[in-house]
Amino acid sequence: MDNSIKAEEKKDIGIMSLDELKEEMTKLGAPAFRAGQIFSWLHAKYAGSFDEMTNLSKDFRELLNKRYEIRRPSILKELISEKDGTRKYLLRLYDGNVIESVLMKYEHGNSVCISSQAGCRMGCGFCASTLNGLERNLSFYEMAGQIYTIAAHTKEKISNVVIMGSGEPLDNYKNLKGFIELVSDKNGMNLGRRNITVSTCGIVPKIYELADEGYAITLAISLHSPTDELRRQIMPIARKYSIKELMDAAAYYYGKTGRRITFEYTLIKDFNDSDKCAMELMKLINGLKQKNVMCHVNLIPVNAVKERKFEHSKPPFIQNFKNILERYQINVTIRREMGSDINAACGQLRKSYIDEGEQGKVL
Ligand code: SAH
Repeated sequence: MDNSIKAEEKKDIGIMSLDELKEEMTKLGAPAFRAGQIFSWLHAKYAGSFDEMTNLSKDFRELLNKRYEIRRPSILKELISEKDGTRKYLLRLYDGNVIESVLMKYEHGNSVCISSQAGCRMGCGFCASTLNGLERNLSFYEMAGQIYTIAAHTKEKISNVVIMGSGEPLDNYKNLKGFIELVSDKNGMNLGRRNITVSTCGIVPKIYELADEGYAITLAISLHSPTDELRRQIMPIARKYSIKELMDAAAYYYGKTGRRITFEYTLIKDFNDSDKCAMELMKLINGLKQKNVMCHVNLIPVNAVKERKFEHSKPPFIQNFKNILERYQINVTIRREMGSDINAACGQLRKSYIDEGEQGKVL
């Protein structure tokens, strides 16, 4: 009789809680404290294989290897910016799907940008991540695993995490919650919840739900247009929820968490970069300020995506847009371009890989 366990029957050990691991240990006839050791190896020491777990005997590691699988993403490609040390990663998931993550180095510490889904179904007109639709949700371990893989590979300490890679995190809500709880676990990464930012295209009911969870993570809202009419042209989600509904949800989130809201505004030439747009945006933000909601606008020059016709606004337009907002005491920054020499707009690395295969040129 063949007692070997096929690879696909192996259990995903990364998604097991400490209690679940303890149950598994009981089933294996191993002492319960092994669960804590394994949890620590996986989530505090970022192990990608059982062989690294050197305080477990070789036989026990082999047993674990037969029954469980560590589905930590692996590195397919790494691009390193010569300008500022930004590292962009194309990562492979256990089932062959690919995703992107980025490590950015700032004076205040290192930040990792992770993906929440392979692909995306939100359909934003300027974004490369959505061009091939949604492949699947990532598990919360696969979300955390991007940070683990990068931390283990670079030996860098990661102090901030932004969920701004491919995918819509509020469209993978259960795993987003699991992720927040996992990375802030004191037996794991022990990341402060204030150091987590989640970016959403604006799924209004989920913003209310997130506010009520009591996590107090930072919320970034991809606004990109100051009127419903314009927003609907580039963001399908805007046909479902109006800007008024989105602003109400933002105010509610601030009221519940006290965390300053970031509005992301991608500047697209001749589309949303006029003085009139700046004034409309100012009115929206002022509406929130009148309700004592603290917020901040982050202007992002759009990254050109070859499948789309958008061009980014020229620097004088960007500066002018910023000046108008500042004239009305609105907190505004222009997103610093990180790794511009390896610049691959959201999802482009992955798209190029999918379209052209393993040999596909990387931007
Ligand atoms: N789905 C989430 C998070 C992923 S996108 C969201 O919509 O917020 C992260 C940010 O990058 C969003 O603000 C998104 O609108 C922006 N983005 C996507 N494609 C871009 C491009 N080509 N140029 C500049 N910003 C882009």
